[in-house]
Amino acid sequence: AEPNVVRDFDGHGRTADGHEVDLMANVGDLASAETAARAGAQGVGLFRTEFCFLGRRQEPDVEEQANAYRAVLEQFPGQKVVVRTLDAGADKPLPFVTDAEEANPALGVRGLRTARKAPEVLENQLAAIARAAEGTTAEVWVMAPMVATVRETEDFVTACERHGLTTAGVMVEVPSAALLAGPILARSAFASVGTNDLTQYAMAADRLLGSLTELSDPWQPAVLRLVDATCTGGAQQSRPVGVCGEAAADPALAVVLVGLGVSSLSMTPRALGDVAAVLGATDLATCRGVARLAVDAESAEDARAKARDALPVLG
Ligand code: PEP
Ligand code: MG
Repeated sequence: AEPNVVRDFDGHGRTADGHEVDLMANVGDLASAETAARAGAQGVGLFRTEFCFLGRRQEPDVEEQANAYRAVLEQFPGQKVVVRTLDAGADKPLPFVTDAEEANPALGVRGLRTARKAPEVLENQLAAIARAAEGTTAEVWVMAPMVATVRETEDFVTACERHGLTTAGVMVEVPSAALLAGPILARSAFASVGTNDLTQYAMAADRLLGSLTELSDPWQPAVLRLVDATCTGGAQQSRPVGVCGEAAADPALAVVLVGLGVSSLSMTPRALGDVAAVLGATDLATCRGVARLAVDAESAEDARAKARDALPVLG
């Protein structure tokens, strides 16, 4: 057993009254996928494909990419693996797709936006994902990072369909996408909320800046309201909404997210046991009540304190 696995996970996330919540892992390469599989993750909610190729100057060819993706998919036979297309730029530079000269890289050509300049890189990656999926029994979902508009959603879903990738979704990490979740989910199969960037963009606080930590806090009620708006859009379109940012690894916040209507949580494998334990001790009505308290709070501290008071299981 790994020393940092806090509590074991039995491989099945649910509330005390049996409402199912998929508890999945964030991975970036084969080694982290192996760790996630050993921890009993119910699949992968975020495969950060750019982690396979950080620092590379040349685009890896389709075969090399397919091999890297297949190695991860093979760790999860019969399970869902959400493969994110390259999220290059800002904190994750990939020299073969991003421009180092931008003044504000977090607001620049990053994530899906790189496909405007280099559409062939996205096409090659989708071809590689499709090829990798062929040889495995994993259920492959594909999603794009940094989607801001309905139009980008349509273009991405269409590109995925050209490669036979029929379960295409978007990350909700730009506030505009949260506010337009209804029309976005009318055109895509699912959404996954990236709370790290959603917080950065909602609060206008650089996620890498330690001096702004009280702003870079997913408990900020403004951030929770954007998650709420995303879930409302998902419910309208009967599409699943997951969370794959660090927020999903905070057990009290996981309760809030489930109460808002999130159906899967993806996190670092070592958090799975703690999140499962708190969810498993809390019924869905309590999750909803705590979510309301947090969304209606006026500050992050207030939201945290209200959740804590309402959840004695946190100890
Ligand atoms: C996020 O932004 O919350 C997210 C999950 O993506 P990343 O941390 O890779 O930007
Ligand atoms: Mg992000």
